[in-house]
Amino acid sequence: MQKLAKLDHQFVWHPFTQMRDWLKREPVVIVSGNGALLRDVHGKEYLDANSSIWTNLHGHNHPKINAAIQRQLRKIAHSSALGLANEPASLLAARLVQAANGIYDLRFTIYESKVRTARKSQFANRKLKRVFFSDDGSTAMEVALKLAYEFTRRTRGPQSKPRFLSLTGAYHGDTVGAVALGHVDLFHKAYADLLFKTDKVMSPYCYRCPFNKAKPERADAREYRKCNWECVALVEKKFAAQKQRGNPYAAFVFEPLIQGSAGMIPQPSGWLRQVTDVARGHGALLMADEVMTGFGRTGVAPVSNLSTKRSDGDRRDACPTLFASHHEDVQPDFLCLAKGLTGGYLPMAATLTTQQVFNAFLGEYEEFKTFFHGHSYTANQLGASAALASLDILQSRASIRARQRLEQTLREALNGLWSLPNVGDIRQVGLIVGVELVRDWRTRAPFGLREQAGIRVCSAMARRGVLTRPIGNVVVLMPPYCTTGTQAKQMVAVLGDAVEKVLGVNRWQDNR
Ligand code: PMP
Repeated sequence: MQKLAKLDHQFVWHPFTQMRDWLKREPVVIVSGNGALLRDVHGKEYLDANSSIWTNLHGHNHPKINAAIQRQLRKIAHSSALGLANEPASLLAARLVQAANGIYDLRFTIYESKVRTARKSQFANRKLKRVFFSDDGSTAMEVALKLAYEFTRRTRGPQSKPRFLSLTGAYHGDTVGAVALGHVDLFHKAYADLLFKTDKVMSPYCYRCPFNKAKPERADAREYRKCNWECVALVEKKFAAQKQRGNPYAAFVFEPLIQGSAGMIPQPSGWLRQVTDVARGHGALLMADEVMTGFGRTGVAPVSNLSTKRSDGDRRDACPTLFASHHEDVQPDFLCLAKGLTGGYLPMAATLTTQQVFNAFLGEYEEFKTFFHGHSYTANQLGASAALASLDILQSRASIRARQRLEQTLREALNGLWSLPNVGDIRQVGLIVGVELVRDWRTRAPFGLREQAGIRVCSAMARRGVLTRPIGNVVVLMPPYCTTGTQAKQMVAVLGDAVEKVLGVNRWQDNR
């Protein structure tokens, strides 16, 4: 075994990994990367088909991000945000606030229908104006959770017991607060006694929805579903019941447009808008977990066609929707960002919130209204400079066009997978893809846990030079934005080939 692999086996404990299985085979040891490619210690190249667990945006070793970090490194790597401000973090906070609100200004200037004007006034005091930096997705959520909790107690009274509602299958991170908001039994059950109680409500999983009366078809289940939006009615019911109990929900927590770790479960168009309207109607704060969906992951549309001149003459066609919530004109009270924030370079996160929430923490020193939360590396300069460079790239026309092209290439290539009987559902939201593997598409019968269909397909893909990780029986494709058309087609072709070889011929034999 290669010597670095040996050291890994000897000393490293990997996240979300059954180490007994891990220790059975030599691990892939990555030594370098370029664009969408990763290179291992033996010189073998792989396509990074899940963007290094959904973090990387523009590819590895990007010259602009590298240069930004190097420039910053010549000045300083890190100084504390406890008691000190710093250059790139101040600039980044301003850019994030602009990105999180600017799109509204643009959209409402262009569409002047009554409905939109009404929504505009509804949003007027919901601007995201403050940025609290932390380290990763879990801490971004932890910050939002604590802020929402304390804000509610300060506005409803110290006796109030803020209660949170999140979605079935929700995953919001691994710190204890974030785990409490989650509802994945497999991950969270073990810690049940450590957690505070939160409620859950059905998330729309059209492919396996009990209310969907449609027979399986060779198309994304959202498109051919037959239902009456019972999932929205359930959300309404949940909010009404909680109000009846005299303690309306403090906050509604959701991943907008698509739930990631739940199994790449996308919401049918209009769901987000409807349920967030319900939540708002009941006075709940909206907490959007855009740790995975943020920074253009869910696609450039629908504002890509807004290449109109604004009244101030500023051409804003290079101002795409960066956040999934905005695709449905939803402006949350908490926008939680991590993963792609630094382009996938460094661990950094941000929780954006409103002036109203911020104001609730203002007071005389001795009142101790301070938000007592912080981390040693909060607002780290290297992370912030990488994030600034990443935003520059994201908002460039070249990147917007490349993302539109990549989304289309993926869509066309994925169409070819419908011919495989073991492909049950193909779900694509922008540059996020989940392919659900089943025994037979006609019955939707799932593979059993012990068959490890997803794991075996991904292992076969790795042997063919494409790296990704499954979520149960769902294979994820989430390529870096720099992925070329040829590379994207290769990812899909290798996935199809692996499904056929591993599941199609003989389900129990790992055909190499
Ligand atoms: N929220 C979502 C939606 C996520 O996908 C993840 C990570 N997969 C997290 C939170 C937690 O992020 P991190 O792993 O950076 O703590």
